[in-house]
This record gives sequence, structure tokens and C-alpha cells, in this order.
Amino acid sequence: MKRQFFYKILIAGDASVGKTTLVRRFVDGVFVDTTTMTLGVDFLLKQIDFEDSISQLQLWDIGGQIRFRFMVEKYIPGAAGALLLFDITSMPSFVNIAKWVQILRTHDYKLPIVLVGTKYDLEEFSMVGDYYAELTKKRFQMIDYIKTSAKIGLNVDGVFDLLIRHLIEKSGKMIDKAEVSEKAEEMDEWEEIEDSDF
Ligand code: GDP
Ligand code: MG
Repeated sequence: MKRQFFYKILIAGDASVGKTTLVRRFVDGVFVDTTTMTLGVDFLLKQIDFEDSISQLQLWDIGGQIRFRFMVEKYIPGAAGALLLFDITSMPSFVNIAKWVQILRTHDYKLPIVLVGTKYDLEEFSMVGDYYAELTKKRFQMIDYIKTSAKIGLNVDGVFDLLIRHLIEKSGKMIDKAEVSEKAEEMDEWEEIEDSDF
């Protein structure tokens, strides 16, 4: 029997960084040249299978417009993790990462986040060096920094895999702990029985 997991994942970052495109590419496997702005929040479902587990993902594509932030905040509770995107050709989208971290971690200050530099196919126009992205990753104790291109299909699955593997590992550790404390309780019960025998 494979283990089953359910995760609510947030896809965050400024408008036009490529959130909708990345999620669509991941879910449908196509590059959709979106021109319409995401109004508020959409969510998509996707299942990821690993060797010994099945994860049902609820992917919340959050509209990056500042004026929708009050809506964004409503969708954060219950999230297991987030992909936080910036466009490597847009310095403002990178500068805003700190604000996004603050919003994403309002309810859970340890929310696991993967930092994603999008539009890697446009590397020649990159405004954000790896050094600075890595510093930001460290500063906010993010899981990793990964560059993707939804256009040429680079690291699209990889970035989701990385986050989900991290979450599974984390919940694995939680299960292990629960088992350990159950064992400890069992032992206590035995001791009680032994004690009452005397
Ligand atoms: P969102 O506002 O964050 O949801 O951004 P969208 O997904 O709507 O994308 C904004 C624009 O960036 C669209 O014109 C996309 O076609 C374009 N885009 C998204 N991903 C990529 C990519 O990997 N490479 C390039 N060159 N353009 C991209
Ligand atoms: Mg969008």
C-alpha cells in the first residue's frame, strides 16, 4: 500500500513572473502563453507519484497584484508549502521576495518555501545573479533556489518534486516521532502491569 498525502501548495510572487504558466505547464504539460491576468486566486489539482507514496496536490495560483493582497492572505492558512517565484529579468520582482515571505509566513513562520527564478530561457537578460538569489534563500531559510523555464520546459516538474519530497520527508519524521512516543506509552503500560503484579 502506498502512503497517501494531501498538500495545499501556494504559488506566489509578483504579477507576470509566470505563476499561471508554470502551474499550467506542470498540470497540463503545455506552455500556455497567457495574456490574461489572474484575478484573485485559482486552484488546480495534480497527483504526484513517487515509489512509495501518492501525493494529491492542491495548487493555489495566487494573483500577484498588490490590490488583491487582502484576498491572498485569506488563502494562506492550511498551506503545507509554497513556491515563491520571481522573474530573473525583473529586479523589482526579486526585491519583492521579502514582502512575499512575510505574507506567506503570517500563520506559519516556518512554512517551507522553494525560491524559483523563472524565465531561465531569457538568461541573457537576467538582472538577478545567482549569488544574490542564494543569499536570499539563506536569509529566509528556504529549501532551495531553482531556475525554471516554463517556455522550454526546464525544471518544471523538478521544482514541484523538490518541494513535495521535502514535505514527505518532514511528515515521515513526524510519523517516526509518533511511533516512538507510542512505543514509549506501550512500555509505560507494561511497567504499570508489572508494578500491579507486586
Ligand atoms: P503570472 O501573472 O505570474 O501568472 O504570470 P503569467 O503566467 O501570466 O506569465 C506572464 C508572462 O510571462 C506571459 O506572457 C508568459 O507567456 C510569460 N512567461 C511565463 N513563463 C515564461 C518562461 O518560462 N519564459 C518566457 N520567455 N516567458 C514566460
Ligand atoms: Mg497568473
